[in-house]
Formats: sequence, structure tokens, C-alpha cells
Amino acid sequence: MNIIMCLCRNRFVLLILSVFVLLMGTFTQAQENYTKARQAMIKEIEADARITSFYINKKEFDPKVMAAMSKVPRHEFVPWQERLSAYANRPLPIGHGQTISQPYIVALMTDLLKPERQQKVLEVGTGSGYQAAILAELVAEVFTIEIIEPLGNQAKERLKQLNYRNVTVRIGDGYYGWEEQGPFDGIVVTAASSHIPPPLIQQLKPGGRMVIPVGSRFMVQQLVLVEKDAKGNVTTRQILPVRFVPLTGKH
Ligand code: SAM
Repeated sequence: MNIIMCLCRNRFVLLILSVFVLLMGTFTQAQENYTKARQAMIKEIEADARITSFYINKKEFDPKVMAAMSKVPRHEFVPWQERLSAYANRPLPIGHGQTISQPYIVALMTDLLKPERQQKVLEVGTGSGYQAAILAELVAEVFTIEIIEPLGNQAKERLKQLNYRNVTVRIGDGYYGWEEQGPFDGIVVTAASSHIPPPLIQQLKPGGRMVIPVGSRFMVQQLVLVEKDAKGNVTTRQILPVRFVPLTGKH
């Protein structure tokens, strides 16, 4: 009796071990596929940077921005049904009528901010949390605001799971910025506004930079770089035409 029980138990353990090994193999294969797809995405971003060099005044992005783009697992930021397309160089739906931005645009906006390790950056429009994760690889602190509660909560949980401890997510209307945490070295707005929100200009440090798509809803907008000099003078420069979902809220 004891021998039969022992044999059964051994077979059971063997079965569990086989399933475990099989799952580990599948997981490792999937990770390798994602890594290859991410490398291909990097090549496409590099090619797009060269193609748009006329607009962006350079042929390549800062290597540390590209290193962050190579590191952050974009597939963790998209819904499961979009995972196979996670590294396509285009925006993808993330639910609630919103999108995760095109990787080239994420790289461009990050590059325009000129991120430095000691900086504090504000993002308006958390969405999936992907842009916040890219920034978190490059600066000391990221504060990000999302107006759609379920999206913001999901991004918060995702960033926690992925161990991004220097990102703070808040649900609210980013038009008004985050006064208690400001001023910021950089501000990135990932939804299009008809104008540059004055509270965001106010919350930008002297020497700070803001990147924001400006223009009317559902039309082609202009990506604008806003710079505040050491004396507090503000200048703006149009970078290139873009298409973003609108900045919503009561303003
Ligand atoms: N940065 C996001 C990412 O990496 O996934 C993509 C952002 S998506 C293009 C724009 C986001 O801005 C949406 O999630 C939308 O709900 C949010 N949004 C729109 N208006 C907003 C506002 N007034 N305040 C905060 N978030 C806003």
C-alpha cells in the first residue's frame, strides 16, 4: 500500500515538474521574442529620426533616451490582445478610447525634454504608464496625472509591479498641473490642447522645458517645445506635425 502511494506521489511530483519546465520554456521563448521585437522597434525609431531630421534638427536621439526605449518592456503596458503588436512603431488602443503613443513620438518627446538624472518631471496624460516608465529610467522623480480613473489606477498598479518606485500617479485634471510638487524641470503633455495651459507654464522651473501637442481636436496638431530661460522668459518652437487624442477636462 505504502509503495503504491509513494509511486503515485512521485508521478504527481514528476507531472508538476514537467508542467513547470514546459511553462518556463514558453515564458523564456516569449521573453526572447519580445526582446527581438524591441530591438526591431529601436531600428525603426532610429530610421524615423533620420527621416525627420529636417524637423528635429538632429539625425539621432540621445543614446540614454534610446537605452531607456530599449529597456522598458512595452508589451507590459498594452492590453493582452495587443501584445503581439506591442513593438509596432505606431499608437495602440489601451481602452476608454485612449492610446499608448507611437514609440518614435515617445522617444522624440523624451529627447526634447533633455532629461538629466537629478530632475523632477511632470507628465500630463498617464494613459498606460509607458511614457512615465521611460522618464523614470532617466530622471529622479516622475509625477504623472491621468483624468480617466480606471486608466490611472491600472497604470499605478502596473508601474508598482514593474518596480518603478520613482513614479507617482494621481487621478485628476492635468491642465492645472500639480502645484504642490512643482516647479518641474520638465513637463510632457501627451494629449493635444488648443493652447498651452498657463498653470503648466507657471509650474515650469527657470531653465525648464515643456513638450506639448497644440492644436484642435482630432486634427493634425503641432508638437511644441516651450522653453523658460533663467530669467523666466518663455519662448516656443514648433517641432513637427503630430496627431494626439484631446486634452479633456473642464477648463
Ligand atoms: N502617455 C501615455 C502612455 O504612455 O500610454 C499615452 C497618453 S494618451 C495619448 C493621452 C492620455 O491623456 C489619455 O490617457 C487621456 O485620458 C489623458 N488625458 C486627457 N486629458 C487629460 C487631462 N486633462 N488631464 C490628465 N490626463 C488627461
